[in-house]
Amino acid sequence: MNRKLNKRKRIALVAHDHKKQELIEWALYNKTTLAKHQLYATGTTGTLLENALDQPVNKLLSGPLGGDQQIGAKIAEGKIDALIFFWDPMEAQPHDPDIKALLRVAVTWNILIACDRATADFLLTSPLMHTEYETIITDYSTYLNRKV
Ligand code: PGA
Repeated sequence: MNRKLNKRKRIALVAHDHKKQELIEWALYNKTTLAKHQLYATGTTGTLLENALDQPVNKLLSGPLGGDQQIGAKIAEGKIDALIFFWDPMEAQPHDPDIKALLRVAVTWNILIACDRATADFLLTSPLMHTEYETIITDYSTYLNRKV
């Protein structure tokens, strides 16, 4: 099974509290490019992004209140193409299981993922960000058709 990504990508952005400043700086630097795409974010990150970018952001619940899981659900439903996730490697989070689940579902569906600023730069400057692109999804039919 493949999934077609449009030219205009649906990008989800999430940053933990000590990483929010870094994400906002990165987003401001890349404001023109981000304006070409559709943005989603967890609640607090989304409000900060909207104020900084002057661009509408589809805001979900705050991460620890279920926002990470909402993004994960959208990924599984094929409604998010890329995840920019500045998670904090120096601090345990109350919603650590949700973070693990979000990263897992992102890999399950072969979406674009950047967890640090350097990778986010490479991702956003890829020519593929501005073209249609077909992602190849792992064939899960053996799993789905297993005898239980
Ligand atoms: P927040 O959530 O943007 O609402 O702070 C981020 C997170 O997942 O911790």
